[in-house]
Amino acid sequence: MKTPDILFLASGNTHKISELNEVLQPLDIDLKSTLDISDPGDVEEDQPDLQGNALKKAKHWYRETGLPSLADDTGLEVDALDGSPGVYSARYAGENASYEENTQKLLKELQGESDRSAQFRTVIAFIDQSGEEHLFEGVCRGAITTEKRGEKGFGYDPVFVPEEYNRTFAELSSEEKNSISHRGIAIQKFLRYLK
Ligand code: IMP
Repeated sequence: MKTPDILFLASGNTHKISELNEVLQPLDIDLKSTLDISDPGDVEEDQPDLQGNALKKAKHWYRETGLPSLADDTGLEVDALDGSPGVYSARYAGENASYEENTQKLLKELQGESDRSAQFRTVIAFIDQSGEEHLFEGVCRGAITTEKRGEKGFGYDPVFVPEEYNRTFAELSSEEKNSISHRGIAIQKFLRYLK
């Protein structure tokens, strides 16, 4: 399949947009996102798993724009919580909860817990020019700290230490994080497919 000249990212998250822009640069692909749409509205993430949500968003924006569209959904899966918050990571502390509220709830749930192992998992769904679906997954294993550390990144970054590191995602540069992160791994798989 011919590498597309233009891609639509089903997100308005500036972290995700710049992360993807960085890796697409050598391929000379023009990246559009919901920031380029006036009043894009929300696609409700009501599916039971990450794959369902990612596909729902990618299909919606493929229909709306006619462009090859890509969407991701990410969950933090904590072993001692049987994989929670998982697909509910964005609203762990309730509908419209802030990153801070979600992080504080997680630290509280894990108070006194010795098994702090966890993983981030990202699923990227891509609908190509001909409307065909493709899925790419990335996993980053690590552990949850007992308190927040670091100012960079977003979401649960200040409480997640990736395996073989002793700094949290929020203490790593964006290049370091992207080279090992769940989303970075899924994006690399997507890039290999594009090439
Ligand atoms: P999303 O659906 O991909 O936006 O991710 C759901 C939730 O997971 C977000 O609201 C964040 O709290 C969290 N999350 C996603 N990716 C990351 C990450 O790279 N670091 C920390 N938290 C993340």
